Amino acid sequence: MIPVTKPFLPPMDEYMTQVKSIWDRQWLTNNGPLVNQFELKLKEFLDLNHFLFVSNGTLALQLVIKALDLKGEIITTPLSYVATTSSIVWENCIPVFADIDPNTLNIDPASIEKAITPNTSAIIATHVYGNPCNVDAIQAIATKHNLKVIYDAAHCFNTKYKGKSIFEYGDASTTSFHATKLFHTIEGGGIFTQCPELLKKIAFMRNFGHNGPENFQGLGINGKNCEFHAAMGLTNLNYISSILSKRKELYNFYTSKLENLNVSIPEILKGAEPNYAYYPIVFETEEKLLKSVEQLGLNWIYPRRYFYPPLSSLSYVLKGDTPIANSISTRVLCLPMYQDLTIEEANMACRILLRTQNN
Ligand SMILES: *Cc1c(COP(=O)(O)O)cnc(C)c1O
Repeated sequence: MIPVTKPFLPPMDEYMTQVKSIWDRQWLTNNGPLVNQFELKLKEFLDLNHFLFVSNGTLALQLVIKALDLKGEIITTPLSYVATTSSIVWENCIPVFADIDPNTLNIDPASIEKAITPNTSAIIATHVYGNPCNVDAIQAIATKHNLKVIYDAAHCFNTKYKGKSIFEYGDASTTSFHATKLFHTIEGGGIFTQCPELLKKIAFMRNFGHNGPENFQGLGINGKNCEFHAAMGLTNLNYISSILSKRKELYNFYTSKLENLNVSIPEILKGAEPNYAYYPIVFETEEKLLKSVEQLGLNWIYPRRYFYPPLSSLSYVLKGDTPIANSISTRVLCLPMYQDLTIEEANMACRILLRTQNN
C-alpha cells in the first residue's frame, strides 16, 4: 500500500540511546535537558533567535491567539487543515474567510482587504503546502489597518523567504511537529516570534502561568512538551538534510513525469525557497479527480484530498464568499510524498494518472 504520507522513523538504537539517558536522569518532563537541547538545536538549524516547543501545532495557535489577546473577527483562509479555523473559534473569536489566490492557493491579500471590518483584530494565514503566502502584501495591509498577523506554518519546516526562515514573519508563526509532517517529534508544535515580550508571556502560559513553585504570573494552560518527544526531535534532526533532499527529488520527479497531465500545480512565491513537503495537483474538474482517485485506489495508492471540504463549510462558522477556494478544494489532490517512497512507486502513480486521463 502507498499512502499519501508515512512518518519518518530514525534508526531505533539512536532513539533508544536518548531514551536510556532519560531513564538515567529520571527526568521525564517539565523543561528537562532534552527539551532545552532540542530548542537550542532547532534555533541553530533554522538560524532563529526565539522558539518555544509546545504540545502540538493546534495548541500553538491557541496560545498565540490568547497571548495576543485577540477579540472579534479574524480573517483566515478556507484552504487549510481544520485546526487553523477551530483554534480561532475555540478562543472565542469569529473566523471570517477571505478567498485564495488561484495560482498559489494561499490567501489572497486583495480578498483580505475586502473582508476587513471595524471588528477585525487579526489575520491568520496558512502557508499552504509549504509555499509562503505573499507576506509582504499581508504585512502592508496589517500595518495599514493595525491588525496582528499570525502564520500557521505547520507545513513550512525549513521554508525560507528572502533568505530568512519563514517562521520569522508576522507577529508570530506556529508550526506542527506531528508524526505526519516533514519533520516531527511524534506529537509537538512550535511557536516563533520576533517579539521578546510576547515570547516571555507565552513561555509562562505554556506552563500553567507558573512563576516559581508558589507564584503565578497570569492565566496559563498545560502546553508543555516532554523529554521523549524532544528525544525524537533531536534524533530526527540528524536526518533532516536527507529528508529534505528526498522531498525535493520526488517533487522534481513528479513535475517531470506529469508534464503532460492536464493539471496545474501551485505557483511558488518569487523569492521563496519551499521545502517541497507536499505535491498538490489541481484537476480541471472534480469528476476527473474522482476518476483518478478510483484508479489509484485499485492499485493500492491512496492520495489525499488536502484540503477538502473547505473550512468555510464547517457547521460552526459563517460561510463567507470564497468561490475560488470552494472550487479548488473540490479539485485538489496531494500525491504520496515520504522518505521511504521509491522513484519506482512514484512512477507507478504517474503512469496510472496519465493512463486515466487518456482513457
Ligand atoms: C497539522 C496541521 C495543524 C495541526 O497540528 P497538530 O500538531 O496536529 O495539532 C495545524 N495547521 C495545519 C495547516 C496543519 O497541517
